[in-house]
Amino acid sequence: MIHTSTPSATVSHWIDGRLQPGRSGREADVFDPALGSVARRVALASAAEVDAAVASAAQAQPAWGDTAPQRRARVLFRMKELVERHTDELARLITREHGKTFPDAKGEVHRGLEVIEFACAAPQLLKGQYSDNVGGGIVNWSQRMPLGVTAGITPFNFPFMVPMWMAPLAIACGNAFILKPSERDPSPSLLIAELFAEAGLPDGVFNVLQGDREAVDALLVHPDVAAVSFVGSTPIARHIYETAARHGKRAQALAGAKNHLVVMPDADLDQAADALIGAAYGSAGERCMAISVAVAVGHIGDPLVERIRVRAQALRVDDGEAPGADMGPVVSAEARARIEGYIASGVDEGARLVLDGRGLVVPGREQGFFVGATLFDEVGPQMKIYREEIFGPVLCVVRVDSLDEAVALVNEHAFGNGVSCYTRNGGVAQAFAQRIQVGMVGINVPIPVPMAWHSFGGWKQSLFGDHHAYGEEGVRFYTRYKSVMQRWPEGEVRGPQFVMPVNG
Ligand code: NAD
Repeated sequence: MIHTSTPSATVSHWIDGRLQPGRSGREADVFDPALGSVARRVALASAAEVDAAVASAAQAQPAWGDTAPQRRARVLFRMKELVERHTDELARLITREHGKTFPDAKGEVHRGLEVIEFACAAPQLLKGQYSDNVGGGIVNWSQRMPLGVTAGITPFNFPFMVPMWMAPLAIACGNAFILKPSERDPSPSLLIAELFAEAGLPDGVFNVLQGDREAVDALLVHPDVAAVSFVGSTPIARHIYETAARHGKRAQALAGAKNHLVVMPDADLDQAADALIGAAYGSAGERCMAISVAVAVGHIGDPLVERIRVRAQALRVDDGEAPGADMGPVVSAEARARIEGYIASGVDEGARLVLDGRGLVVPGREQGFFVGATLFDEVGPQMKIYREEIFGPVLCVVRVDSLDEAVALVNEHAFGNGVSCYTRNGGVAQAFAQRIQVGMVGINVPIPVPMAWHSFGGWKQSLFGDHHAYGEEGVRFYTRYKSVMQRWPEGEVRGPQFVMPVNG
């Protein structure tokens, strides 16, 4: 099978088990962010193309939903093997269009693979509950049924992992799935589609629609789409959740973040500084679980900032495929301009700029969208750089006097995706985990991304909807609950009953 490892000039759709050229006449540029130049184009679907994808999915879903879960799982087993075999190819596509380093891209592929592994347990995950003789010889059981056609709209920063948070479980549960990936790094989506086809997934069960707002809005109002999963920024997440709900769809919308790492005075400062460097600057800060605020508690502010400064200054920023690169470019020229704008606003609002990553030029990659590691100290909670998501390699240090103050600071923030606390005191750790109003908590773990058999999601403005992603929450999201009561009365004649039946 020919894969898209050398992507075509225009990245198109995957509908009904094959590539479909764009017909809308609309396209967008796809950049190689390290080179700063257009690498290819991507088709942008019209509402008519959305109709075609939904029709294909709706046609394929009933037979797939009726397929035994064990047989569905076998397709996912083959998909797991194929992804393992094509990890480098997927990672290279990610690095060239997203910019993150090649080892980091391989890590992303691996974390997505873990959800496929989890979905391979479909028969176990879909097992219902059974009660013998709930009264009058009746048995009662519950079963989890597919929803029908489901859609996933995903962000640029994890073009493999986030689609894998959704599609394997949607498919394991007997649904058809339509992926609308980010238009900034669309190529991995086609390799995913090809691998699903090679794994034996029937045509139409997994489709890819390239596109922008037009495709998303058509999916959100389409009567044959039963559920929408979204991961992306908060304003779009709110729009997705509200519009999908208004049109009677199940929706989950994972959104933006501002993650704090609280360093207690008793923490090992070298460990905390290393953790902060990886979590703040890894993937150039373009992770929803990136740490963008360090909270220094008590007297440790000066030594902590100094440790971060020394390490951050030594980071190697380069093309993501360059051996030894710690950080690649950010995704686009617009992203770089936005990040540099935030740095300027931090200076204007009186934060102390310890390290300035603006204007970084990488030799041989002069046109690339690079921003160096940036560090602010003495940041106040009223500042824009503290309140808003920057989504770049910018770490803000806020100084507070006590654990109570640190907890209040985190809890008052509008976002509640991830948080971490570095301490050597078990009582502090326990109190922190209990009181903090955030969906994912790390104790001496900087980026607490739950494993595939737990579930991922934030609180407050970081998630709209009732279910977190993947794990058992994902199974619940992609199924609806049915309760069946059954009896086989032999020769019984009781006449009509007008009173609520009870076990009296
Ligand atoms: P984005 O919100 O700009 O785009 C996400 C998706 O929505 C893309 O597929 C895009 O095409 C589509 N979209 C964009 N504008 C739209 C509009 N007006 N109407 C309908 N659809 C639209 O996000 P991004 O820049 O691709 O990704 C970065 C954001 O994603 C950050 O805010 C980050 O925190 C967030 N994110 C959150 C999580 C999480 O789990 N909470 C994970 C990864 C990324």
